[in-house]
Amino acid sequence: MSVIVVHGGAGDIKSHKREAVARACAEAAAVGWQVLAGGGRAIDAVVAAVRWLEDCPLLNAGRGACADANGDITLDAALMVGRDLSAGAVGNVPPLRHPIDLARAVLERSPHVLLVGPGALEWGRQFGIEGCPADDLRVPADEPAEEKAHDTVGAVAIDDEGVVVAGTSTGGVRGKHPARVGDSPLLGCGTYADDEAGGASATGTGELIMRVTLARACVDAMRAGEHPMDAARRLTDDLHRRVGGGAGVILVDRHGRVGVGHSTLGMSWAWHRADGAACGWQVPAGE
Ligand code: ASP
Repeated sequence: MSVIVVHGGAGDIKSHKREAVARACAEAAAVGWQVLAGGGRAIDAVVAAVRWLEDCPLLNAGRGACADANGDITLDAALMVGRDLSAGAVGNVPPLRHPIDLARAVLERSPHVLLVGPGALEWGRQFGIEGCPADDLRVPADEPAEEKAHDTVGAVAIDDEGVVVAGTSTGGVRGKHPARVGDSPLLGCGTYADDEAGGASATGTGELIMRVTLARACVDAMRAGEHPMDAARRLTDDLHRRVGGGAGVILVDRHGRVGVGHSTLGMSWAWHRADGAACGWQVPAGE
């Protein structure tokens, strides 16, 4: 029943990059699957997969994170555990290699759910979480055509105990206001998990995702019995219809069924479970 699904964002990217991001997702899913296959916990699988994606310079999280309007880098991340609905999130934090570690620290060591700004990173230092120079995260400038890409990263897993965990990490949107926080660290928007229904991690323009609370809408659809594949397609289409623009989402329901849907041209995704693995840059019809 255990499974992990990951994404590396949704949008339009140059064709030569599509295979590489799908492969990065496959690698991250395999890293997370190693944890689950060894009887490990969903939280460790999701964090391992997101950390892997944060290290991938092709994607907009950790290394490779995009710059704001001032040319600075600030990061958002969230982690939620569906057993007790516990969650930790950080918004607009200064550069660090693994924002998901800081979100996990908030979840496990803080009475709060969301910490924002430089103070969040300052707080994390007592647990050995350190910032890094922005240049450690910068990679050679993207081609202008990549501006329509939303290459946030995320993972959702369920383990043998039926615990559902979702995690998301991002640099936000290119050229964002320096004080902006996106959907990724907001529960119910970019990230949500509930053992009684399933989990979700979203990508796309955060300002649109927030307005339809996409992750929570997907989880509630699974709660009502909709197959995650149908829910992911329907609710990303719905977002497009209601507020315009595109988004993508990955889902796992409480039965371990997977969903991937996007109303953008493409979305990089991968899943891994006992009976096999798959990855791609678009969700094939009939999948
Ligand atoms: N959802 C992210 C944000 O708005 C962007 C992305 O998905 O790439 O911060």
